[in-house]
Amino acid sequence: MRYRGLGETGLSVSEIGFGCASWWGQKAFDERQALGLVHAALDHGVTLFDTGAAYSGGEAEPRLGRALKGKSLDGVVVASKVGTYHDGRRVVRDFRPAAMEASVERSLRNLGLDVLPLLQLHGPAVAELDDDMMSMLEGLKRRGLVRAIGANSFDPAVIEHIVGLPTFDVVMVDYNLLRPERAPLVARAAAAGKGVLAGMPLAMGHANRQILRLRAPRDLWYALRALKNHRADIARWFLSARAAGPLVCSARTQEPPRGHRAGRTLWLPPQLARHDRVAGGAGLCAGRSKCLERGGRHDEDGPFDGEPCGLGYGAVAGDPGGGEARPAAGVAMRSDEDFLKEAIALALANVQEAGGRPFGAMVVRDGEVLATGVNEIAATGDPTAHAELSAIRRAAQVLGTPRLDGCVVYASGQPCPMCLSAMYLTGVTRVRFACSNADGEPFGLSTAPIYAELAKPLEAQAMDVRHQPVGGAGGELYAAWKARQNRT
Ligand SMILES: [Zn+2]
Repeated sequence: MRYRGLGETGLSVSEIGFGCASWWGQKAFDERQALGLVHAALDHGVTLFDTGAAYSGGEAEPRLGRALKGKSLDGVVVASKVGTYHDGRRVVRDFRPAAMEASVERSLRNLGLDVLPLLQLHGPAVAELDDDMMSMLEGLKRRGLVRAIGANSFDPAVIEHIVGLPTFDVVMVDYNLLRPERAPLVARAAAAGKGVLAGMPLAMGHANRQILRLRAPRDLWYALRALKNHRADIARWFLSARAAGPLVCSARTQEPPRGHRAGRTLWLPPQLARHDRVAGGAGLCAGRSKCLERGGRHDEDGPFDGEPCGLGYGAVAGDPGGGEARPAAGVAMRSDEDFLKEAIALALANVQEAGGRPFGAMVVRDGEVLATGVNEIAATGDPTAHAELSAIRRAAQVLGTPRLDGCVVYASGQPCPMCLSAMYLTGVTRVRFACSNADGEPFGLSTAPIYAELAKPLEAQAMDVRHQPVGGAGGELYAAWKARQNRT
């Protein structure tokens, strides 16, 4: 499993989240299996569980609470939503601050938590985001009931507004194969320091034709919901089927190979993964469709083992109406070339969506991407915000240690001496880069001249770098450090 920092919240979340909504939360879906899926997700390293007070007729939150009961929740980020709730008959929308506070307190009880790591407003209107609302939300943080605040809206104008509000740490947008036009919005949110969760990352399954294959009551449930809530998306999919073809195919190449129960890595389709601030999404089998009908296998030919396998199907984080089942996650071991291609895709997205420089990098350990980075000099004004250095910083955060022993760095371009030194300093084991300094030279993107300077003795280098002793200060300074080290 890969993990990503969620904006500036200080929270780290698995790249793939578990959407606790929809069919998964319905009473008709077997409780034991629903809980088993959450436990399988935990076992596979999923640390992001997204639900909402209104989901599954109000059943999703308490069910998630039962699933998490007695489990170690160290590092687990439970996200829920406020502003809508289920009154037993229907979903009620209520963004009055007092009602929202009461709803949060109910959610905490339902989930069995003292603190909700992430609270998200569920489809607020811009007019509702007034000062009263902000002070109530800040109050929830102050009282320690909520750690981070986000908003979930599929209206880009609302998200644009929220990106400008300092109270919010996270936004959840509908970012998927049918919504590539959200990419610039995602980039702006990320540049503003907001964590981004991709809701409906699998386009609710409308991007494949499974929606028309009704084989069980649950399929009808999803199809009716799709027709009710997402008619325009379905029409759009059929109209754009030709254009969408290659994207769907590329997602398909990541389908789990047979026998994928061995618990290998889940990962997002590259179309979503290229934004290194995006997390969330989908990927766990919610027991719908083939998996259950074939007795627990996604691949048609495999032996039955009677359980949903917990891999490869999407229960979708942040999907306000619920999740959708569709092959989602790939598990094949990736080669150096695969990782380099991803680094290049990161670099290209940085150019095309953030107006940044053409560099992307990833830190990988044991075949798992710990962190990614792109060149953020343009966005941050930080001249050291190179792709490799950014990825190294994040990887160290993820690991909770400054040592990256055993890690491999994949970079779209040849690392500059600064980044290469950082790799030496942190104990990186291996480095692969796709474009050389010679490739970059015609574009002014080579650091070969600096390498050439560094290869010379200090006194022969172009920069005036000299050792100038200052009365033994070096000795005292280092001795002071050593003395303090010995004390601790
Ligand atoms: Zn560099």
